Amino acid sequence: MTETVRLGRIAGVRVGANWSVLAIVVLITVGLAAGRFPLVAPGMPVVLYAIAGVVAALVFLLSLLAHEVSHAVVAQRNGLAVEGITLWLFGGVASLRGEPASPGADLRIAGVGPLVSAVLGVVFLGAAAMAGLAGAAQLLVAALGWLGVINFVLAVFNLIPAAPLDGGRVLRAALWRWSGDRQRAAIIAAGAGRVFGFVLIGLGLAQVVFFRGFSGLWLALIGWFLVNAAGAEQQYAAGQQALAGIRVSDVMSADPVTAAPDLPVQQLLDRYVMHHRFSTFPLLGADGRLAGLVTLDRIRQVPSDSRASMRLLDVACPPDEVPAAGVEEPLADLLPRMAGCADGRAVVLDGARQVVGIVSPSDISRAVQGPRYHPA
Ligand SMILES: [Zn+2]
Repeated sequence: MTETVRLGRIAGVRVGANWSVLAIVVLITVGLAAGRFPLVAPGMPVVLYAIAGVVAALVFLLSLLAHEVSHAVVAQRNGLAVEGITLWLFGGVASLRGEPASPGADLRIAGVGPLVSAVLGVVFLGAAAMAGLAGAAQLLVAALGWLGVINFVLAVFNLIPAAPLDGGRVLRAALWRWSGDRQRAAIIAAGAGRVFGFVLIGLGLAQVVFFRGFSGLWLALIGWFLVNAAGAEQQYAAGQQALAGIRVSDVMSADPVTAAPDLPVQQLLDRYVMHHRFSTFPLLGADGRLAGLVTLDRIRQVPSDSRASMRLLDVACPPDEVPAAGVEEPLADLLPRMAGCADGRAVVLDGARQVVGIVSPSDISRAVQGPRYHPA
């Protein structure tokens, strides 16, 4: 999900929003201001319903954000890197880099989100009850009550055991613990996600056809999104299964051409790019340690008139953001980390943290398609 507005940081996690989140705000505001509020708290001016609707929609977004931040924080505590949180059409997504190392970590990261939503549900319902007892305005009680209910709905919906919903991850963690096979567990959880997605599409369309209910379209749209997301997860897990048994050393390109960090960009082009087929160049500092990584794609982005003055370090992916792997590490463990600024490349380090190889997308496709791993 692409972020169109950057909102800031919460607990060190980057938070942004996609424009499509506005659809949620509009749907909720209209639904509350024109539907629920006039019913529950009759006799108020329309403008008050509208204001209460907008405020409730925004507080709901904050509740969503709390749910996602909890995923991100627990993921970080369990050793995963968090790229950020984006709010969009279907709620929020926390983008994590890498995968949980154990079923327990998988369970904690997935489970905390619905837990936070359920706690918020209790808090808002409690606040609604107290406001009601204290004789507060009916509109306030109605808004608090709706926020309580919607947070419970969020918790329960997310607990449905169908990936990519949180419940699907809980199912994956349970199957993983039970069978010891993470990939198979992921494939089953994503399969459940596809089935559930199709069920939602069916229910949504039936609602539109038989009851002329516009909200059925919304349900069908969510179902369609789930089918697609679950399909992608299934494919990914199947790909990982195909990589089982392959080690980083089986696929890496050994002894890569390295360059000095302060070499001008133009010199790298003249010296290496013209004469080698390499497209990835680790930069090594004076101590022989990794100082960054440049790729042809990054170099191409440098305007030709700055190539003589700019140093490689200026255009490199910084060393702490370059995915690194050990020689003997399973390739399937490295793959989920190969996002970020290194253009899908990773460096391979030996025990002394010296660069001994690189892994590029073409190395991986060669390994997966090569006859060595799929004998005819
Ligand atoms: Zn969640």
